[in-house]
Amino acid sequence: MQGINKVGIFTSGGDAPGMNACIRSAVRTALHDGLSVMGIYHGYQGMIDRNFVEMNSRSVSNIIQLGGTILKTARCQDFQSPEGRKQAYENIRAAGIDALIAIGGDGTFTGAEVFSREHGIPVVCVPGTIDNDLYGTDFTLGYDTATNTVIEAIDKIRDTAASHDRLFFVEVMGRDSGCIALNAGIAGGAEAILLPEKETAIEALCDQLSLAANSNKSSTIVIVAEGEKNGGAYHVAREVKARFDFYDTKVTILGHLQRGGSPSSFDRVLASRLGFAAVRQLQAGETRIMVGIQGNKITSTPLTEALSNKTVKLEKDMLEMVKVLAI
Ligand code: ATP
Repeated sequence: MQGINKVGIFTSGGDAPGMNACIRSAVRTALHDGLSVMGIYHGYQGMIDRNFVEMNSRSVSNIIQLGGTILKTARCQDFQSPEGRKQAYENIRAAGIDALIAIGGDGTFTGAEVFSREHGIPVVCVPGTIDNDLYGTDFTLGYDTATNTVIEAIDKIRDTAASHDRLFFVEVMGRDSGCIALNAGIAGGAEAILLPEKETAIEALCDQLSLAANSNKSSTIVIVAEGEKNGGAYHVAREVKARFDFYDTKVTILGHLQRGGSPSSFDRVLASRLGFAAVRQLQAGETRIMVGIQGNKITSTPLTEALSNKTVKLEKDMLEMVKVLAI
């Protein structure tokens, strides 16, 4: 690939803390290297709507600490059709954009892969999703911050749960990935954790809760990932209550507050490293790759590989440990 002059950068899919830090890093790296940068608002939708803005160093001042994304994000149905993508391509070429940096999750990567193949435009992707569910990187942007947000919430719930001897079911994000649930659950001292990756029968959960009840605990917290197979926190709470009438049960759905907030230092540094790497990889002639981090080294993985390997990053010993530490 030769002659990149203007890089287009966008965020797409669900927002995640650290996206702004990544935009800042990519914009400044590109400018430092003599490239122009065009921000694309609302992800793929902005390509179709010609929603572009020329960016300079000051465009990204004072954003490293902000959650969300200054470039906005969207889910774009039109981009799923060849006609929509053709329109998007014509628009970005008319704006002089000759390479793209996409920050998002697996849907965003799928779109980037097909778009780059169809129209030959180089694309480098950055994993930005709180779910931490992409192959080829140990961590995705936003995951660390979201997990810390959940831990803060669990700590607060623990205070009230302990005061009233209550059993709390706390539902956290994770339709297909239990990373937040497992790690926040361990860090928050949860008595049980229900994950999308592992079916837990209500009876087995009740056995665990019996142990907690018999060991005179003043509070019990069960973390429920939204994608777990029993049907969500309210359903599980009802089922448990039907068996353990003595428990005063409560449900808290943490919801979208998990997406917001100032990124952690970990996410800011990761975002900066990945934004920097994305620009350098484009200039090195790479395309259709995801930059990631593995063992504290920045790596690149072909998008096809990042998308095809649905590896579960949950370590078995951690699940075993949850039970051991709940006695
Ligand atoms: P998150 O993991 O946070 O949900 P995501 O990037 O997976 O983020 P999606 O909504 O799945 O979020 O995808 C973002 C956008 O990518 C979609 O709205 C669509 O515009 C585009 N996209 C997804 N799948 C395809 C596809 N098969 N072909 C073309 N574009 C796609």
